[in-house]
Amino acid sequence: MLHEAAATKFKEALRGTLIQPQDADYDETRKLYNGMIDKRPLAIARCADVADVIAAVNFGRTSKLPIAIRGGGHNGPGLGSVNDGLVIDLSAMKGVRVDPVARTVRVDAGCTQGDVDHATHAFGLAVPAGIISTTGIAGLTLSGGHGYLSRKFGLTIDNLLEADVVLADGSFVTTSKKENSDLLWALRGGGGNFGVVTSFLFQLHPVSDVFAGPIAWDQQHARTIMQRYREFLPKAPEELGAFVGLKKIVSSAPFPKELWGQRICLLMSCYNGPEADGKKALAPMLDGLPQPWLNWMATMPYPAVQSMFDGLYPKGMQWYWRGDFVKSLPDAAIEAHLAQAAKTPSELSLMHLYPIDGAVHRVGRADTAWNCRDATWSMVIAGIDPDPQNREPVTRWTKAYWDAVHPFDLGGAYPNFMMDDEGDARLRATYGENYARLAAVKKKYDPANLFRVNHNIRPSA
Ligand SMILES: Cc1cc2nc3c(=O)[nH]c(=O)nc-3n(C[C@H](O)[C@H](O)[C@H](O)COP(=O)(O)OP(=O)(O)OC[C@H]3O[C@@H](n4cnc5c(N)ncnc54)[C@H](O)[C@@H]3O)c2cc1C
Repeated sequence: MLHEAAATKFKEALRGTLIQPQDADYDETRKLYNGMIDKRPLAIARCADVADVIAAVNFGRTSKLPIAIRGGGHNGPGLGSVNDGLVIDLSAMKGVRVDPVARTVRVDAGCTQGDVDHATHAFGLAVPAGIISTTGIAGLTLSGGHGYLSRKFGLTIDNLLEADVVLADGSFVTTSKKENSDLLWALRGGGGNFGVVTSFLFQLHPVSDVFAGPIAWDQQHARTIMQRYREFLPKAPEELGAFVGLKKIVSSAPFPKELWGQRICLLMSCYNGPEADGKKALAPMLDGLPQPWLNWMATMPYPAVQSMFDGLYPKGMQWYWRGDFVKSLPDAAIEAHLAQAAKTPSELSLMHLYPIDGAVHRVGRADTAWNCRDATWSMVIAGIDPDPQNREPVTRWTKAYWDAVHPFDLGGAYPNFMMDDEGDARLRATYGENYARLAAVKKKYDPANLFRVNHNIRPSA
């Protein structure tokens, strides 16, 4: 329990709320997106503004509590919370301000991707981000952020112009290319290691209606489709974001009943432009392929494709993740994928290969902390099931799948697709030659490693 007098004083200093185990809303508030993770913090400071964040950092530091920083709470291993410590919960900080002339958006750290897409879509603009609208923009951005628009406009961090940060000593700084540029460099991929980001300024791009949606084939055609996709993607126009997946059709509406539970190879696409151009862009991928089971591509507002998967993946299910950066997909790798995908232990479990090319490759390896600019895909294998009883089978399947395909992959992985049991070597492989520079920035801004509930980069010696 917190020291009562200190907790009372802290509570009085907050505009937001301090939630403790004795409070009625404690259990609801501490829940994370991943139902496999069940953490019991001593206190959750739901901050209302920057002043609250400063008070929370100072309280956590002086009380010697482990501190977790929570944006959307979507992190796989639940690094947005901590046992017996303080959660700095930013989810109530939801301001978004679009500047349509400068084509920028200022986003408070509690926003979800959906909050940002909603606000910017009104102006026909968007920032590249992930594929589920309930994901927190903060955690997604700080480890990179990839999605449908990345081939044309880069990662989310490639569009990060400024960030406001509360540092470990409670001081407040703004980072930009001109001010504290070393910190901005580290925030562009280095995760939540360097301070509590209270707001982000992003570059926006013209995106309004898109031609988007899934095409799904019987998984028995997956070899042909994956081979075609690996040849097609590098030559495809960058307006097209398209990932390939191996999974099952979920047994619920809107899917046709006769397809429920069937194994599929999925091509999920989003073309930023008119339907006719999108069809032309996709033709070399689709021409001559077997007839798909379903093709639901249509013209829709960009926020619609961004939230298309939300209903399938509500909060609270069991998730176990493994990722890798992938450079190429030789036939032997495809065979390994097919063998493992044939053993999925649950209807929701999946493998996705997200493109990492185009604009992402045009940023230098040392220009941001996100080092792996020469990958072609960011792969994720996720064992997912609503039933806590199935946590073991989905975890086992994910690990076995990863073991089978990892020899074909690069050494590192997207940190946002890592659990917390992968070890320091994985993180070093992910950051490569940028690791030493990240450790030096960490030493400058957080020498005592106050912010260590994350994929931790320890301060250099
Ligand atoms: C269903 C699903 C789909 C996904 N799809 C994609 C995708 O398409 N593309 C993609 O790039 N990623 C994707 N992700 C991964 C996602 O980016 C990560 O899970 C990310 O960590 C979520 O951010 P959050 O703010 O919701 O997480 P939280 O759990 O709130 O935070 C995660 C970590 O981020 C750091 N952090 C959060 N907020 C701050 C802050 N304000 N200041 C400093 N540090 C902070 C902390 O270290 C914290 O531990 C997906 C995740 C899920 C669950």
